[in-house]
Amino acid sequence: MSLQALSIGRFLIVDDEVSNVRLLERALAYAKSGPVVSTTDPRKALELLHSSKPDIVLLDLHMPYVDGFALIAQIKAALPPGEYLPILVLTADVTSETRQRALSKGAQDFLTKPLDPHEVLLRIGNLLETRFLHMELQRQNGALERLVAQRTGQLEDALNRLTSAQQQLVKQERLRALGMMASGVAHDFNNALTLVLGHGALLRPFFENDAPQAEGEKFRHLMAAAEDAAHVVTRLRDFYRPADQDELRVPVDVNLSIQQAIVLTAPRWRDRGRSGGAAVEIETQLAEVPTFVGHPPEFRDVLTNLIFNAIDAMPTGGKLRFTTACEEGLIIVKVSDTGVGMTEDEVSRCLEPFFTTKGALGTGLGLAAVYGFVQRYGGSLGIDTSKGHGACFTIKLPAAAALLPVAQGEAPPDKRALRVLVVDDQEMIREIIAEMLRVEGHTANPVEDGVAVLAALETRSWDLVISDQSMPGMTGAQIASEAVAAGVKVPFILLTGFGDEMRAQGGTPPGVDLLLSKPLTSNSLRNALETVFPAS
Ligand code: ADP
Ligand code: MG
Repeated sequence: MSLQALSIGRFLIVDDEVSNVRLLERALAYAKSGPVVSTTDPRKALELLHSSKPDIVLLDLHMPYVDGFALIAQIKAALPPGEYLPILVLTADVTSETRQRALSKGAQDFLTKPLDPHEVLLRIGNLLETRFLHMELQRQNGALERLVAQRTGQLEDALNRLTSAQQQLVKQERLRALGMMASGVAHDFNNALTLVLGHGALLRPFFENDAPQAEGEKFRHLMAAAEDAAHVVTRLRDFYRPADQDELRVPVDVNLSIQQAIVLTAPRWRDRGRSGGAAVEIETQLAEVPTFVGHPPEFRDVLTNLIFNAIDAMPTGGKLRFTTACEEGLIIVKVSDTGVGMTEDEVSRCLEPFFTTKGALGTGLGLAAVYGFVQRYGGSLGIDTSKGHGACFTIKLPAAAALLPVAQGEAPPDKRALRVLVVDDQEMIREIIAEMLRVEGHTANPVEDGVAVLAALETRSWDLVISDQSMPGMTGAQIASEAVAAGVKVPFILLTGFGDEMRAQGGTPPGVDLLLSKPLTSNSLRNALETVFPAS
């Protein structure tokens, strides 16, 4: 006899005859059973079922008010799905019709009255064991299902991580390949534009003073187009330029740069509101943040690109928001708009150079330059957007070591006339650079190589040397270090072509104050002089 099942089981007895109830109670007490609840009123059976939660129901068939068949149906209906609660029917009616009817309603077993207590206990023990086995099975199934769900979740996570890592890799490779391609294009254009702009600078006085007005006008258009082209090349270079090949770096005040960029771009967003167009509202939430070491105009260009994109994305007006924060040594700059947003496909491609959805109005170089910038500074760029719901660009940059003073804006141009030595092995280029310097009011002496430079430095004092890097014989960097070795202290600007930048990895060479990339424009030359000779 399964005594253990009996001892932990809970029992519900429903029989209108008190003597039967007592007999069953005594038999169960004899077997030291678990708790027993009984009733002689079948109308109370369901209530007791809920309150006592039995493991087995011992049920009489023929009772007043509610008969056993109806009760079996009610009990079955009251049970949660999947629960197995054995019902043992006790009856004096032994006809096979009655038995079949009770079994078909859901009774598990039969005992005929008068009851044999021993047989009663044996049957109950068997039914209880079946119930407990069933419960254990269900418990294990549940645990198994939870385990499977958990494992499935883990596998899905792993798959997602893998897919996104793969996408990231493909994207980086694509950007790298595009960068290499862009660098080749930029290199060739550099050389051509240096000549175009240089000759243009030489021809400028003629077209401005002597040529007929119409020709002068055409010349200005030509120069403006060439300057634009040079600008595009510069932005391409921004995308590719390797780290640490930058111009002189200073601590950059992030909040000040944002405010300047807002002011500088004002003509684009303010006029729209004024001319009755849709207004762009600007909101700033700038926390005190540390500086990073960089080039303020470059960072302003990054912000300007983001601002122009945001304005383009809000043709019917909206809000442009800037926030800054600092977390764990990272400066966090967020630029968000309430514009048209981007599709998933647009997000995945927007950093590629030349990707634009603006047709002829876009160059597709803005975000490529922003991406190049954060790469160079060891930062990251996050884009949070969906179609129709605006866009938020998050730039994270490592902060400079603590307590760096903030850069004091840009110095006004120094109008002092400088004596400059210009070195380039190509006569046309050194003449052009010299002429550009003269146009700015400086004295310029073009020489062809390092030997001539060192000789000139010995015989006269100079304010500045501007030298090409790649030359046969001595390179520009070698000339600078020779000058230092000879004890000559002279500011030195080194002109680098695109190829040199890619090869050089060690930062600014000794004796060199500033690296300046070709093509040289009047503006970049002027800026370089302002950097090397800040007004006091
Ligand atoms: P361009 O502005 O010349 O198109 P960008 O590189 O600056 O080039 O931007 C590339 C593309 O990314 C845009 O054409 C536009 O589709 C999308 N984009 C950039 N910024 C936003 C923005 N704030 N909201 C919606 N789309 C944007
Ligand atoms: Mg843009």
